[in-house]
Amino acid sequence: MGFAVITTDRAGLPYPEAAPASQALFDRARAVVPGGVNSPVRAFRAVGGTPRFMTRGSGPWLFDADGRRYVDLVCSWGPLIHGHAQPDVVAAVQAAASQGTSFGTPTAGEVDLAEEIVRRVPAEQVRLVNSGTEATMTAIRLARGWTGRSRIVKFAGCYHGHVDALLAAAGSGVATLGLPDSPGVTGAAASETIVLPYNDVAAVQAVFAEQDDIAAIITEAAAGNMGVIAPHDGFNRRLADIAHAHGALLIVDEVMTGFRVAAGGWSELDPADADLYTYGKVMGGGLPAAAFGGRAEIMSRLAPAGPVYQAGTLSGNPLACAAGLASLRLADAGAYKRLDELATTVGARASAALTGAGVPHLLSYAGNMFSIFFTDAEVTDYASAKTQDAAAFRAFFHEMLARGVYLPPSAFESWFVSTALDDAALEQIDAALPHAAAAAAAGAGGAQ
Ligand SMILES: *Cc1c(COP(=O)(O)O)cnc(C)c1O
Repeated sequence: MGFAVITTDRAGLPYPEAAPASQALFDRARAVVPGGVNSPVRAFRAVGGTPRFMTRGSGPWLFDADGRRYVDLVCSWGPLIHGHAQPDVVAAVQAAASQGTSFGTPTAGEVDLAEEIVRRVPAEQVRLVNSGTEATMTAIRLARGWTGRSRIVKFAGCYHGHVDALLAAAGSGVATLGLPDSPGVTGAAASETIVLPYNDVAAVQAVFAEQDDIAAIITEAAAGNMGVIAPHDGFNRRLADIAHAHGALLIVDEVMTGFRVAAGGWSELDPADADLYTYGKVMGGGLPAAAFGGRAEIMSRLAPAGPVYQAGTLSGNPLACAAGLASLRLADAGAYKRLDELATTVGARASAALTGAGVPHLLSYAGNMFSIFFTDAEVTDYASAKTQDAAAFRAFFHEMLARGVYLPPSAFESWFVSTALDDAALEQIDAALPHAAAAAAAGAGGAQ
């Protein structure tokens, strides 16, 4: 992409810009994997430079192929609330692996994990799947099967995985790549999707007044894929009311927020009487596991109990269930208190550094998820999120990286803390911040 990476005082940097071992791996990868990555945002397209190939994680730290150590504020995009290689999680996976990796039959671990989930969240029943994408895809199929209707309402900037029908105005990955719509998604699939501005109740009312074929509204429990934007007070509840008044369902997507912001996810903090929920990320403990669930009456329409088909060769995989269960068992009230405190601390220190350097910004929270918008505008939806200064973020990101702090490589992503962040990690963040803030000030207003 060839962005000039603007930084101050390159000479004193702990980690130089060039990352030869990562670059060599990236060159090999690009020959055999499109763009060199298996998920687009990993390629650093929004920030430029060499994506770091990680070799190892331990507690709050990530180690790359060049032997550099970073404080991890991405946490695998949310799942790792206890940090890397947490001993109980590792032991659970090892124990499960020693008993066999997959059976294609029901197992006790699936029941344990489903019970733990149902105990925490409003869903009465859940079905386990392998990714958040599968969870939202099937929740939509089920909503359509239940209502006999076809249209779906989603919000601009909300990401629900790469489901065809939901890949319209889908935030982060799509936003940072600048793809307006994805080729390969048919007009027919896209025309079933109505995209509205986030936090805009009037727009939802207007569309329901006009259309009688809406099966469901899907919304992120709190938006985390256009940067972090909490729903306005009562927004999710209003969505449920409007949907129900018109015979439609509300699907609350908790793939990012579920088990991260509270034991029961965002819906514990802000209950909304939704019909279906989707989960992923934290509930897999770093392995591929996700789920969707809701009222038993609706869930019982799924095969084999009902006619709506859904299946998966590796669904409820024993290793993934073991990792997820171990991770959830560690996620007690103390863990959430610690995550909240750490998010407050890291966010406040970053904001103070930016204020000190005179960089306009907005620190935006939804529970312990947060992001910094490099703008002085109020941010309530995707349009306002996009007013931010991408060049200032790029400069900030690279300076943090060069000083051993791994931030999400896009201004439209949440920062994620883990309970493993210790004093050494916090000190490394503190030491980097003033330099990064100065870099952001120097880089502000550059090529967007
Ligand atoms: C990550 C995410 C998804 C997709 O999950 P995958 O496991 O990446 O398919 C869906 N919805 C939300 C809100 C997410 O953050």
